[in-house]
Parts: sequence; C-alpha cells; structure tokens
Amino acid sequence: MSAPILPGATIGVLGSGQLGRMFALAARQMGYRIATYSPDTDSPTGQVADREIVALYDDLDRVRAFARSVDVVTFEFENIPTATVNAMTEIVPVRPGARALHITQHRLREKTFLRDGGFPVTPFRAVRSLPELHAALAALGTPAILKTAGYGYDGKGQVRIGSLDDADAAYATLGGAQPSRTRTQTVGAPPDAAELPEAILEAVVPFVREVSVVAARGVDGAFMHYGVIENTHQNGILDLSVAPSGLPPHLIAEAVEIAHGVFTGLEIVGTACVEFFVRDDDALVVNEIAPRPHNSGHLTIEAAATSQFAQQLRAVCGLPLGTTHFLRPAAMANLLGDRWQGGEPDWAAALALPDVQLHLYGKRDARPGRKMGHLTALATTPAEAAARVLTARNALTREQTKE
Ligand code: ATP
Ligand code: MG
Repeated sequence: MSAPILPGATIGVLGSGQLGRMFALAARQMGYRIATYSPDTDSPTGQVADREIVALYDDLDRVRAFARSVDVVTFEFENIPTATVNAMTEIVPVRPGARALHITQHRLREKTFLRDGGFPVTPFRAVRSLPELHAALAALGTPAILKTAGYGYDGKGQVRIGSLDDADAAYATLGGAQPSRTRTQTVGAPPDAAELPEAILEAVVPFVREVSVVAARGVDGAFMHYGVIENTHQNGILDLSVAPSGLPPHLIAEAVEIAHGVFTGLEIVGTACVEFFVRDDDALVVNEIAPRPHNSGHLTIEAAATSQFAQQLRAVCGLPLGTTHFLRPAAMANLLGDRWQGGEPDWAAALALPDVQLHLYGKRDARPGRKMGHLTALATTPAEAAARVLTARNALTREQTKE
C-alpha cells in the first residue's frame, strides 16, 4: 500500500459545487491545500480553495498540468469524461478510480452492474429509438420512467409514462429537453437534439420510503458507514433528510450490507452513497449510486463523529477512517433558489432557534430549483430534529408568506 498523503499536501477536486466546497473546508481544517478544476469562476469550491483552475474538462493539456500540480485527485461531480480521468490517472492517484466513475455516471451501466452483481434493482431496458421504447414498455408495463442514461441530476432528464398512450410524447419530451446546466454542457459533446439520447426505461417502484446509506471505503478496503438516512423528495429533488432512520434493524443491516457490496464491487476509495427505495412489501431496491459525498449526508457535519467530507479526505489520503456514530439525531432541509423569490430569506429568524445551523454555498443566482444551501437541526429524537429544521426553514419566509 502506498504511503499516506499527509497534511500540507494539495488535493485536486474535479468539479466546483457545494460538495467540493464542504470537502475543501474539511481539508483546510486538517491543513491540506485545495485546487479545484471546473469551467466555472467564483464557484462554491473556488471561493474557499487555494487555487481555482477555470478550464474545460476535455482540455487534456490543462487537465495534465492540473494533475502534475496536486498530490491526489478526487471528485465532487461525477460527469467527468473518461479521457480526462484516464489522463489524470497516468500522473497522480485518482480516488475513486476511473472504473467507479465510468459505471456510475451512466444509468444503464450502473443498473447493469447492480443487476449482474446480484443487487436488487428495478427491472429496466435500454432505449435508443421509439420502437425500442414500445418494446420496453411491452416488457415492463406501466407506469414506467424514461430517463436519459447520462447527465441526469436532481430528477432532470426524466419523464414518467403513465400509460402506453403517453409513450410518443414522453419520447419527444426527453429528446427535446436535455438537462441543461453549464457544467453539464461543457463536459463533452451534447447529444444531438434531434435524436433521443441513449435512455433507460425503468419500472416504477411502488415505494413507501426512500433511504440512503452514506459510507466510505479506504485505500486498504476498510468500510465505515452512517447507517440509514431517511429522505423525502419534492419534484425529484431531495428536500429533507433525517437520521438515524426508523427502519427496522433487519432492513438497516440489509441496506448496509448491500452498500458494502457495492463499494467493494466498484473498488470505491472515498465517500459515496447508495440510494434505496423501500417497497410496500418491505423489500429494498437500489435506486442509484453517487460516487461522492451526497446531499443526504450533509447532516453528518454536525451530527456525526466524523463528517462525510472529513471521511472523504481521510479515505483519499490513505489515512485511517474516522468513527461514524451519531452524536445526536439530526435533520437537514435543503434551501432551493425558490426561497429567494420574495427577497433575501430572514436568516436571523432561523438562527434564533436552538441547535440549528445554516450552510450557504456562495452561489449568486438564486434560480428556482437550484440548491443554494441547507439547514441542519439537532434534537433528542429524529422526529424532533425534523420538526425543528422545518420550523427553521419556515421562519426564513414567514413574513413574506403572511402578506
Ligand atoms: P438526484 O440527483 O437527486 O439523485 P437523479 O436525477 O439522479 O436525482 P433519480 O434518483 O433517478 O434522479 O430520481 C429522482 C427521484 O425520482 C427519486 O428519488 C424518486 O423519488 C423518483 N424515482 C426515480 N426513479 C424511480 C423509479 N424507478 N420508481 C419510482 N420512483 C422513482
Ligand atoms: Mg437520485
């Protein structure tokens, strides 16, 4: 095993959003330097990094120069072209590695990996044309969800198909409405708008809960997890996370075992997340894998002995992983750009509540649906933490909603 990368070293972060920002803050706390690489300027990560490199992900000369200037590379964004990852890997350790990234950045490869590994996954089919969509619907039935294979995030690039009559319209919607965001547009050739990009049709899982297992795997294969976190989504975007979850112990054990199997199978080094559906018959189904810290793990910053970001740092630097037990039950509520519609939220009102912490990501444009920050509340029970964080979030706009 290679020697650990010690404080004082420089860590390269590919991507420059809030995940990189919180990682950089944890790394700086331990005396590391941070260089971030992305097409964006004044980015959430760049604002707190030692160096912010602004360049395209497919500019391999810049990528190689970046790799030469750092001691290890990690990610906060998984849609990095394979050629970029390969070019870096020739120069510097890249954690997690090219294979984990290649599989998880593409829903078809990801679900195929899961199915072939014997992990529970909803039935799915590859869709590259309208006839293939009809055949897939005949095989899987309705309701089903059609998703672009690559570049999806926050529920974008997805369309629900309620009945066979909706198929043609759904196909057109997906072909014409690519998930657009500057960082996805710059990572490679965008699919031709006239054609449906490679897509996946998934049978809808009749779930009663959504949960996640955030965990980390070290260079030596050590595995540490935060148990099961319970998640609620609004319009396909994570809204609320609560931990520890109230799942029965046998389901918690099963979810953790599945996550461990996934981490081992992908040879992940770093923090990552496995998202699950809990079906009405109590069966677990894996939804997807995030090969990086996850929004549902943000509450570990205040609530756990080692945060998911400090753990990411330890893992990618080849250091011993930290303990992951919860100091107190916690809940996290996302702050989307919508909250700014009536003016600047009333931060003081939320912060007046006990055991509530505010995180803002330094993003200038408060667009609807954009993740601008989050609130975390600690309490004596998970239910109290959830109630407290929602009270705090409501306090942000209470005056505006009264009007
Ligand atoms: P994120 O960036 O939040 O992870 P994403 O764009 O990767 O989102 P998914 O996780 O695939 O998208 O889907 C977003 C949400 O849509 C899920 O959390 C779930 O609520 C719903 N969903 C997706 N696929 C299915 C399915 N097969 N059955 C039922 N619900 C689904
Ligand atoms: Mg998801």
